Amino acid sequence: MKYTFELQRGQEKSIVARDLYSCYFTDMEGSEKFFTHSIFLDMGLDALEDGKTEEALELFRAASRTCPEHLSREVSRILYYTGLALQKLGSVGRAVRSWISAERYHHFPFIAEMLEKYTNDYGMVRQSTPELDDWVAFYSIQLKRYMALKPSGKIGTFAEQDMVRELILDAWQTICESNELELMGTIEKLEYFQSYSIIFPTTTMLYQDLLPQSLRRSGCYYQNYTAPCSCGSGLPNYLCCGRTPSPEELLSGAE
Ligand SMILES: [Zn+2]
Repeated sequence: MKYTFELQRGQEKSIVARDLYSCYFTDMEGSEKFFTHSIFLDMGLDALEDGKTEEALELFRAASRTCPEHLSREVSRILYYTGLALQKLGSVGRAVRSWISAERYHHFPFIAEMLEKYTNDYGMVRQSTPELDDWVAFYSIQLKRYMALKPSGKIGTFAEQDMVRELILDAWQTICESNELELMGTIEKLEYFQSYSIIFPTTTMLYQDLLPQSLRRSGCYYQNYTAPCSCGSGLPNYLCCGRTPSPEELLSGAE
């Protein structure tokens, strides 16, 4: 694909970034150059520095689309900056997912630093208090359980979502009042959250006994929770294949 434009700041650049996967451009001296991911990345970094975060995000995505996968250090860097832009835009959950992907491509200390800062021991986005970390993990695990019990695998309406949330919250209040969590570590809490059975209404009780074990326990490898994942990504299990998806991911189907 060939495309000619003047190398200048402004609209044309974002049009190019949005519409073309890879292209050539002619610079002002008239020489033709291959338009690569590194140019998109540089443009994105400029935009990020100028506070044009949304434009930066778009350019990083273009960089990601055009970067060959075997250039794992480059892919990792692009995903890291994608996460940075997302974090600046307030999408911390998506930023964390981007950094997790970045870590799979290449281990840079600055990515590990971001993951350390923004994730908790559950491998989820860190909340403002440890109690909230526990609640989000519990909510997510129970929400996933409820969704797995439904033949459609989905939440149909906001009313249903509210109803399920209320039921989970009731159970959570009972747990908190019992003080049972106080002496537990993360892995013990996860096992407890997984085995805690909330009776959801309608036909779901019937399904529960028919469910295969794998659906009841949603595939967390607690024995190797902090060990490197068996898929070879180099990430610990709790950030990789054994990760607990957030309620937002579950509800949006982005898991
Ligand atoms: Zn894995």
